[in-house]
Amino acid sequence: MSHALAGGRPLPMIAHPVPGAAAQPERVNPLPARKLGGRYKLSDFTFLRTLGTGSFGRVHLVRSQHNQRFYAVKVLRKAHVVKMKQVEHANNEHHVLSIVRHPFLVNLWGTFQDPTFLYLVMDFVPGGELFTLLRQSRRFPQQVAKFYISEVALAIDFLHKHDIIYRDLKPENILLGVDGHLKLIDFGFAKDIAGSNGMCWTLCGTPDYLAPEVIRAQGYNASVDWWSLGVLLFEMLAGYPPFYTEDGNPIKLYEKILAGNIHYPSFFEAGVKDLLSSLLTADLSKRYGNLLRGSRDIFAHMWFAEIDWECLYRKEIPAPYIPNITVDGDASQFEKYPEIDVAEYARTDLPDEFPNMFPEF
Ligand code: AMP
Repeated sequence: MSHALAGGRPLPMIAHPVPGAAAQPERVNPLPARKLGGRYKLSDFTFLRTLGTGSFGRVHLVRSQHNQRFYAVKVLRKAHVVKMKQVEHANNEHHVLSIVRHPFLVNLWGTFQDPTFLYLVMDFVPGGELFTLLRQSRRFPQQVAKFYISEVALAIDFLHKHDIIYRDLKPENILLGVDGHLKLIDFGFAKDIAGSNGMCWTLCGTPDYLAPEVIRAQGYNASVDWWSLGVLLFEMLAGYPPFYTEDGNPIKLYEKILAGNIHYPSFFEAGVKDLLSSLLTADLSKRYGNLLRGSRDIFAHMWFAEIDWECLYRKEIPAPYIPNITVDGDASQFEKYPEIDVAEYARTDLPDEFPNMFPEF
């Protein structure tokens, strides 16, 4: 069984720059920096439990000593970030999260650092990962997939309108709010391309969701997110991604993505197959989201005909599933992780080996 079919999580790639791609015209529409909640420090929070672990850090449920509210704090060890060559990405994550605000994006309240660690203080999104719900349901009925993919599409479109490429769309990075509406988390690979030529060369993302042009190291633009949206929609409807290998071998997986042969299950309707084939096309002159009308081709697609995008944005379309949250700070929708001794975070006696490397925090 492939890792994806077996219910495992495909791991993100370790990113590195790929030189040599051609430049393309620039789109500049930067967001102004937003005023964050203020300066925080470790002693402002009581650490309660681990909510999840990413490749570069751990996310904890915490409670504010001041207002008693619950937050999620992502902690990154500087030495690990440096060793994994993720300095730019850690700074990008802070930068991007500090400028965006949208109903379907997690809210960042502030950041801080000490000699050893970086900390990002975010809203606690209590409903758990869409990944868990999808694996429990095996696959989503069409109307459920349509609801979730529509909210994701609005979030991605918002990011693109502000010259941000997300680059790591997958069900693990989508959480459910207490009301069942989505929040995109993990901006570790997100990149602000305002002031650049709109192109990227860094190989990053998660293998199952990588667009062919990322694998080909040709240089790519924001439309890689629309490819990943297609992968995500396919996976929601089928219960497995459009490209996978039985043994999880990434090279074979890349060959399949490049070959581009997609087998649609017989229960996929014609309308969704049409949308998917317009997203999952390697030919950038045909991919929806990358054409003259940009994302409007996607939003106007007949499969979305019943979606009122304004209502969706205002969360007026009821969510198909309301997470079972009993009280504030209820983290029962998250898997249990072995805990670490958080006293490690409180140490101030160590030297900062990486001063000035994380100016964004
Ligand atoms: P990340 O390193 O950002 O991918 O986060 C790792 C895991 O921590 C995620 O897959 C979630 O399960 C959990 N997590 C991250 N951010 C939050 C949040 N704001 N609220 C609740 N859980 C979160």
